[in-house]
Amino acid sequence: MSNSPIIKVAVNVPLSRQFDYLPPTRGPAPATGQRVLVPFGRRQQVGMVLGQSSESDLPIAKLKRCSEVLDKDALLSDSDLWLIRFVSDYYHHPVGEVVAAALPTLLRHGKPLHPTIEKIAAADRAREFDLEALARRAPKQAELLTLLLDAGGDGLGVELATEMLPNWRRAATGLIEKGLIQSFEARADEFDERLVAGKRPGPDLNKDQQDALSKLRLSDRFGVYLLDGVTGSGKTEVYLQRVDDVLQSGKQALLLVPEIGLTPQLVSRLRDRLGVEPALLHSGLTDTARLAAWRAARSGAATLLVGTRSAIFTPLKNPGLIIVDEEHDQSFKQQEGLRYSARDLAIARAKHLDIPVVLGSATPSLEMLQHCRGGSYQHVILPARAGGAKAPTMHLVDTVRTPATEGISEPLAESIHRHLDAGAQVLIFLNRRGFAPTLICSSCGHIAGCERCDSRLTVHAGSRQLRCHHCGASRPLNEHCDECGETVKPLGEGTQRLEESLAKRFPGAVISRIDSDSTQLKGAMDEALENATLGHANILVGTQMLSKGHHFPNLTLVGVVNADQGLFGTDFRSGERMAQAIIQVAGRAGRESRPGEVLIQTAFPENKFWATLIEGGYREISDNALAERAITRWPPFTRLALLRSAAHRKSDAHRFLEVARRCVAENSSDSLRILGPVDAPMARKAGRYRAQLLLQSGDRASLHRVLRELRPVLEGDASARKVRWSIDVDPIELF
Ligand code: ADP
Ligand code: ZN
Repeated sequence: MSNSPIIKVAVNVPLSRQFDYLPPTRGPAPATGQRVLVPFGRRQQVGMVLGQSSESDLPIAKLKRCSEVLDKDALLSDSDLWLIRFVSDYYHHPVGEVVAAALPTLLRHGKPLHPTIEKIAAADRAREFDLEALARRAPKQAELLTLLLDAGGDGLGVELATEMLPNWRRAATGLIEKGLIQSFEARADEFDERLVAGKRPGPDLNKDQQDALSKLRLSDRFGVYLLDGVTGSGKTEVYLQRVDDVLQSGKQALLLVPEIGLTPQLVSRLRDRLGVEPALLHSGLTDTARLAAWRAARSGAATLLVGTRSAIFTPLKNPGLIIVDEEHDQSFKQQEGLRYSARDLAIARAKHLDIPVVLGSATPSLEMLQHCRGGSYQHVILPARAGGAKAPTMHLVDTVRTPATEGISEPLAESIHRHLDAGAQVLIFLNRRGFAPTLICSSCGHIAGCERCDSRLTVHAGSRQLRCHHCGASRPLNEHCDECGETVKPLGEGTQRLEESLAKRFPGAVISRIDSDSTQLKGAMDEALENATLGHANILVGTQMLSKGHHFPNLTLVGVVNADQGLFGTDFRSGERMAQAIIQVAGRAGRESRPGEVLIQTAFPENKFWATLIEGGYREISDNALAERAITRWPPFTRLALLRSAAHRKSDAHRFLEVARRCVAENSSDSLRILGPVDAPMARKAGRYRAQLLLQSGDRASLHRVLRELRPVLEGDASARKVRWSIDVDPIELF
C-alpha cells in the first residue's frame, strides 16, 4: 500500500460526486486548482483538482491514475474554487458541470492557458506586388492580401481573419502557392488595456448624484448598494466615478450587463471616461478572444472587466468592486443547464471577497427592494432625470371604445402621425417575453376562462388550442369571442405582422424591426441600433430588446400595443414584469430636449394597475406588489425551487416527479409546501412532454436541506433514465 495522496477531481458529467484518482506515475502530484486529464469510462476527460485526501470510498487498488497534469500553476485560486463549490451547493448542481460553466471553452476542452494559434501574414515580397492586376484576376485573393498588408508583420489570427473575411482559406491557398503569404503558429496576442488615448471628464454630477456617490464611497468592504434611479437619472455616471476610484487605487472592477446591454456605445463610453480598454467577456467573441480577456482578468493585466452573465465566474487578481447594471433583467438568470443567477452570485462573491457590490436599476426587483426594507442592503435613490430632460407622460388608449385593427388603434395611429410630422422617431413595443399568453377580446374585454376551475386559459398557438394549466382542460382556439362574437386574435407572436401593418399605414416611413429573429446574424443588432440611434429609421418596432438602456436621441413617442397580457398573466410575477417592461420602454422617450409621450393600448383601462402605474410609478407598483406577496406568501417572502422533467411519454415525466414528491414528503418539514406534479404550462415542447413540481418554503435552510436529500435519490432512481430533468433554485419563470 502506498501512501500517495488521493486526488479529488471534478469531471464534467451530470453526477454530483467528485472522482478519486491517483497522481500520474511521473512528476509532482497535481495541486488544487490545476486541470488534469483523467481516464473516465472509455474516454479521457478534462477534470479540475478540487483537493487531496488520504482516503477514498473505493479501495486504492481500484483507483486509476491521472494521465496528465494540464496546468503548470493553479488555474483557479482558492477564492475561485470557493465560488464553484458555492454554486454547486446552492443550485444543487453537479460540481463538474459548474467548473465547465465557469471556464472559457478552450480551457474546458483542455487547451493551454496560453494557446498558440494559427496565424497568417503577408510575405515581405508581397509589398511590391501589383495588387491592381491581382484584383482583376482574383478579387478575393487581392482582398485577403490587402487585409494582411494592413495587419502588418505580426499577421492575423485565423479566427479574426474569418470574422473579417469569411471563406478566406481558398484565397489563401492561391496566395501561399505564389509565396505571397505564409501561415505559422504563434502565441495569441495578449490583451493590452493601455491602448486608449486618455480619459475625458464627464458632466458635473448633480446634487442627487453626488449624494448617491458619497454613499457608495463610504466603504471599500462588503456591502450591497441598490442604486435605484429612474431611467436617465444618471446612474451610469455615478458608477463610472466609483469605478474610477477603484481603478485609481490599483484594483479591478467587474461590470455585469444584460445580454443585450453590451453595446458598442457602452464600451466606447467606458473607454472614453475611464481611459482604459475594457476587457470584454460575452458570447459573441471568438474563443481565443474570450480566453485572452479571461487570462487578462486573472493576471490583473485588465482592470476593467465588462461582461454578460457568465462573466461572474471570471477569476480576478485584485478585485475591488462588482457592479450589476439593470439588476432586474431576466438575462442574469441562466434558464437552462446550470440555472444560476449572476446577480445573486455577484452578491455572494462580493461578500466572500469582502468588496462592495452595486446593483443598478430603474425598476428594481422585489427581492432586492425587500432586502433594502429589511436593512441588509442600502437603498440609494436618484429621483429625477439628470440634465434637463423631463419624465415622459403616459396615457391609456381604450381598445374597447377604439378597437385596434392589426394591432394599432386610431388614437395611436394619430399620435404616430403627429410625432412623425414633427420629425421625431417613434417606437412601437410588443411585449413578448415572460408570459403565458391568455386570449383577450379587444372589443369587449372578455377573457377566455376555464369552465371547470375558475382560471384563465392559455393560448397554445402551435396546436391552436386553449388549455387550462390547473386542471388540464382544453378546447380549440376559436376565431370569435365567446361573449360578443367579434374576431379575436391572440397577440404576442407578431412583431412581423405589426411591421407589415405599420408599413401599410405609414407608407412614407422607414420602419425598422428589432427583435430576436431580425438580429440573429452577428453584428445585425449593433447595426440596427446604430441606425436607430442616428435616426435613420422613423418607426422602430420591437420587443424587450429595444427597451433597455438605449439612448435614441430623437425618439419622442412610445406605443405599447399588447399591454394586457401582463395584467392577466398566469405567473405571480406578471404584474412586476409588466410594470418593468413598460417603464423601461417608456424611458426611451424624450431623453433629450423634446418631451416624451407614451401611449398604452388596453381593453381594461379601469384596471387599478394602470392608475397605480401612471400616478404612482414603479415605486407604488412595487410597494403594492410586495404587500400582496406578503399575504399570498410568494417570493420574496418564501423561497421556491422548481423541478422540471421532460420525456417522450407523458407518464414517464410524471412518474419521475412522483418519485421526487415522495422523497420530498418524507424529508419535509412543516414550512414546506409541495405543489404538483402537474403538466408544465407549455406541456409539450420539441416532442417531449413536460411536467413540473414546485417546492415552496418559508425558510431557505429547510428547502435546501430537502434538495440536498433529493438530488442523490433522483440521480440514482431508474425513472430518471427516461427523462430530462433539472432543479431550478429561485426560478424566475414557473413554466
Ligand atoms: P442612467 O444610467 O440612469 O440611464 P445615464 O448615466 O446614462 O443614466 O445618463 C443619462 C443621460 O444624462 C446621459 O446622456 C448622460 O450623459 C446625462 N447625464 C447624466 N448625469 C448628468 C449630469 N449630472 N449633468 C448633465 N447630464 C447628465
Ligand atoms: Zn381548469
